[in-house]
Order: sequence, then structure tokens, then C-alpha cells
Amino acid sequence: MLRPSRDSKRRACQVAHVDYKALNIAPPALRIWPRNPYGVCVSSLLQRTRAKVLVVEDEPAIADVVSRYLRRAGYETAVAGTGQQALGRAEATQPDVVVLDLMLPDIDGLEVMRRLRRADHGRGAIILLTARGEESDRIVGLRLGADDYVVKPFSPAELVARVDAVLRRIDPIGQREPPLCFDGLEIDPAAREVLRDGDPLELTQREFDLLLFLARHPGQAFTRDQLMEHVWHYTFYIDASTVTVHIRRLRAKLEPDSARPRFIQTVWGVGYRFAP
Ligand code: CA
Repeated sequence: MLRPSRDSKRRACQVAHVDYKALNIAPPALRIWPRNPYGVCVSSLLQRTRAKVLVVEDEPAIADVVSRYLRRAGYETAVAGTGQQALGRAEATQPDVVVLDLMLPDIDGLEVMRRLRRADHGRGAIILLTARGEESDRIVGLRLGADDYVVKPFSPAELVARVDAVLRRIDPIGQREPPLCFDGLEIDPAAREVLRDGDPLELTQREFDLLLFLARHPGQAFTRDQLMEHVWHYTFYIDASTVTVHIRRLRAKLEPDSARPRFIQTVWGVGYRFAP
């Protein structure tokens, strides 16, 4: 499996051109593009359901970094620098999530939130941006119905993760799991489709489930009994040689050379593992 090297981290920081210290926000955690350490397709992430996020922040540099990270994660973004602007943009764009700074130059963030919640277009999730020491505002915000909050200084990657999380809570089905990609093999759990070098493979339901289960746990060895349990959901009454048969069929469809499997490897004395 590929691990991001120190060089790629340095490159990522240079690409961003952001003086995080001056902005008083933490530098990004490991979100390296376009390296692909976890088998997730970068292109598919970019095509992820384009939920809309309104970023309300009066410091242009922070608003810029945050919206850039959100766009990179596949979101559509709009930015507002004042409370008044935020109310207008919310009405115009109907955002799924509002990232709302509490300290705004005109209307107080909590008041913006109250007005958003009263309006029809204020149904989206709200994540508050608060400074340390604004604990009472945070509590009031949560009581008023904020979905989450992030304390400054924060890492833009963390904020993206919070946006992902509130959207999952609101709409668990709408968030499409991105395809898994490995060396010419693409497994799309949402479409239940497998592509080998761009060509679709005709897999049965069970073959697909078996491949998906193994690929979601790359490098991990499973016994036939474990596969029976997790893929077939049976714990007994079934002959574990069923697994062997399915693995053989899957290899024949999937592997360029099924005698020397590239992806589904035999672990002698144990069972099988997926090699990413
Ligand atoms: Ca502010």
C-alpha cells in the first residue's frame, strides 16, 4: 500500500500557498492529493454528490482556505463575509450546510442562526466556528439548534470531516460511498459495478459482495468461515468449500492470470486476502 512520503507532504504544503500561522489556523492534516494511500479514487471523490456549503466568515483568508478545502472534497461553496450577506446567500443558494463564524462585523452569528432557522431556507445543518473562550456562545448555539461546532484554530481538513459527518447524519443514503480503486481495478459499491481497466465485469451478486468485502479490508487475511459469516451471513449449515468455489470464479473473471492471482491471494493455512 502506498504511504504518503515526507516529500509529498512538503509538496502539498507548497501547493496550498497558505500561511497557516498568520491565519491562526492549524495546517492541514494528511489529505494528500493526488496520492492515493487508501484505495479511494480521487476522481470519484471529486464527483461526490455536490452538496452546497455556505461559508460565513469575515476573514477572507480563512473563508478562502475553508472553501478551497470543501471544493476539493467535492462540495459546491458560497462565501458570505457579513451576517446580512449570509442571509441573502442562504436564500439564494439553499445550502445543505452553513459554516457560520460567530464573530461577524454586523449581525452576531447567533442572531444569523436564529434568523436562518426561522426562514424556510434555513433547514440545512449549521456548524459554528467559535474562538476559544466563547464557550457560553457555543452552548447557546447548540441549544438554538446548531449541529456541531469547531473551535479556532482548526484544521481545514477537520472542518471538512465535520461537514461530511453532519451530512451523513442528515442523509445517510445521499452520501454515496466513493469507489475503491486499485491498480486498474475499480469497485463502485453504490453502483454495484466493477471495472477492470475500464471494462465492466459481469459478477454475480455474491461474487460482488465477496470482492467488496475483501477490498474494504485490504491486506487482511480472512478464513473461509469468516467469509461465510460476513459475506453469506451464515454461521453454520453451509459448507466452507462454497467460498473456495466463489473465489475461483471471481479470480477467473478478475485476475489477468488466475493461476497467479494479483488481487485475491491465498494465505496458506488461513484463507484469502485482498492485495491492494
Ligand atoms: Ca470573524
